[in-house]
Amino acid sequence: MTTLTKTPQGAASLPARAPIECPIEHPIECPIEHPIECDVLVAGSGAGGLSVAVTAAHHGLDVLVVEKTPLLGGTTAWSGGWLWIPRNPLARRAGIEEDVEQPRLYLRSILGNTYDAARVDAFLENGPRMVSFFEEHTAVRFIPGNAVPDFHGHAPGAATGGRSVCGAPFDGRELGEAIHMLRRPPNEMMFHGMGIASGADLWHFINATRSLRSAVHVGKRLSRHLRDMVFHGRAMQLVNGEALAARLLKSALDRGVTIRTGTPVVRLIREDGPNGAVRGAVLRTPKGEWRCGRARRLPGGGRLPHAPERAKSCSPKPPGGTSTGPPPRRPTPATACAWANPPAAASTPICRTPAPGPRFPVFRTATAPS
Ligand SMILES: Cc1cc2nc3c(=O)[nH]c(=O)nc-3n(C[C@H](O)[C@H](O)[C@H](O)COP(=O)(O)OP(=O)(O)OC[C@H]3O[C@@H](n4cnc5c(N)ncnc54)[C@H](O)[C@@H]3O)c2cc1C
Repeated sequence: MTTLTKTPQGAASLPARAPIECPIEHPIECPIEHPIECDVLVAGSGAGGLSVAVTAAHHGLDVLVVEKTPLLGGTTAWSGGWLWIPRNPLARRAGIEEDVEQPRLYLRSILGNTYDAARVDAFLENGPRMVSFFEEHTAVRFIPGNAVPDFHGHAPGAATGGRSVCGAPFDGRELGEAIHMLRRPPNEMMFHGMGIASGADLWHFINATRSLRSAVHVGKRLSRHLRDMVFHGRAMQLVNGEALAARLLKSALDRGVTIRTGTPVVRLIREDGPNGAVRGAVLRTPKGEWRCGRARRLPGGGRLPHAPERAKSCSPKPPGGTSTGPPPRRPTPATACAWANPPAAASTPICRTPAPGPRFPVFRTATAPS
């Protein structure tokens, strides 16, 4: 188990919080001060968990993130890092304005019977506010997807761009030692250990032998990568989901969030029986099971791959990344779209590429046809 917390420079240091002293086996003998205490306990260090952690810490709450695996970032660090947020501030700054009825119409047309008006309204209203919040108050930055069309291009309300943002590239050196706690994308998704960003970066790599400008771009990227490998032993030019996870991690550490790896949530502590309010959780640590006593919330936890048998067939995920914790009470919109609506709102065709070892044997992608 490793614990990260912030230093004045925002980099990680070990250890942080007071040692855990209250084994769950003897909860009654534990004075109330002894269980681990926090205002918000977050299970999981993907985008879901870390964004909740950063937001709660921004509002002055004491936040503890516990991560089941030894590495941080979850499936998010493997992902493309794209967020589908209609009417986002980056599109608006580029002059793309659209009426909220258009994305609502699009969602209604592709979600069919699973369309949930209240949740869609909350998403459409708060998505742009979320992007503004992270841009203004955290280390998270985005690049616009103003030329990225909706996947279902012929559906009513579809747009040809302006509804997506992606985590902006990030210099991993800004994380200090914590960079070594960040999960790396699988080799199949990288070029000799270096991620390639979607958009212009990828375009330059594809054209490196045909355009001098692209060749110079690729040359610079590769020489910087070589230097990073020599001096840091890993890629430091982070892109896509790895950059998004790194930026969220930096934001969490900057705000004094404590993060423990190798510490799964195994049970919830509820008031008044199984359906009562959650008042804490049981964590499994190398020293046994421990109580986290005062948590008011328990967000995060890898909702998409929660059902392991479905996740196996539908989505690659990091080793050990499937949730073992208590199930969420309600599925997230992403979960609902993916599971309840077979023609999911977004999808990417992939080819199986046989590879030795236990890693998932995929990755060559193509842009989804509309
Ligand atoms: C190759 C690929 C590309 C993708 N591209 C995109 C994209 O561009 N845009 C998009 O929107 N989506 C994309 N996705 C999907 C996206 O990555 C996931 O939906 C998203 O990362 C889920 O975030 P999360 O925080 O819920 O879960 P995760 O990022 O998986 O994080 C969950 C974390 O919780 C931990 N955990 C689980 N159980 C426990 C427990 N009991 N206690 C403590 N910790 C626990 C896990 O170990 C994990 O670290 C992609 C997925 C893949 C595989």
